Amino acid sequence: MRNYIIAGNWKMFKDLKESTELIKGLTAELPAPLPGTTVVVCPPATSLSLAAELLAGSHIKLGAQNMSEHDEGAYTGEISWKMLKGTGCEYVILGHSERRRYFAETDALVNRKALKAIAAGLRPIICVGETLEEREKGTTMEVVTRQVNGVLAGMTASDLVSVVIAYEPVWAIGTGRNATPAQAQEVHLLIRSLLTNLFGKELATQTIIQYGGSVKPDNATQLLSQNDINGALVGGACLKVDSFSAIVRSAKP
Ligand code: PEP
Repeated sequence: MRNYIIAGNWKMFKDLKESTELIKGLTAELPAPLPGTTVVVCPPATSLSLAAELLAGSHIKLGAQNMSEHDEGAYTGEISWKMLKGTGCEYVILGHSERRRYFAETDALVNRKALKAIAAGLRPIICVGETLEEREKGTTMEVVTRQVNGVLAGMTASDLVSVVIAYEPVWAIGTGRNATPAQAQEVHLLIRSLLTNLFGKELATQTIIQYGGSVKPDNATQLLSQNDINGALVGGACLKVDSFSAIVRSAKP
């Protein structure tokens, strides 16, 4: 059976009241676990504790959108792995293109954060993906290869077991312009073969590689049926109960 992870990245949306409405809506719409499909919600940090309380007893897992590379200290505005674990997070998105673009995150930093998350028992959802300029220059494969090797540097096979990779072409994020299933599959296959080179075929086959970039209910089925696409990282469409639950149901393990 193929396994899928469908994760919703709420970004900087939803205050406490709106978070409550969305979580209550999702737990009502997705009351029972879906065999082979793990569902994760990643609200903003201010809603994590509340979300954990509302998700108690539900199959829906909790994730954060970012994490510090440090254990603790004078890092104003940062959030540590310990704080995330304390709220009940099991997942953390790392290296999202918005963090790379607006907060200058590099592959090396994302790698340090990912190693820290894994050591703490959190599953990192590590994002990679080329910009429009890189795609148009024909350097997509080169860029994604460099990113994957960079973010996974120094990881062992047992580290990789915790890792989820999200291929998110930057030009498809929040633009309404998704990669075609064939374009996405081509890069997913590349990522799978990079994982095979680094960790062997068995582990590479088991690794969840999500696609992200304008996933919507009407394109999810086709994207999720590609051989090497094992899930989705969803932005805009995860902010509404109907669209996120429809995407979750599009996964056919
Ligand atoms: C994202 O934020 O990771 C994302 C893929 O956003 P959207 O679905 O809105 O393109």
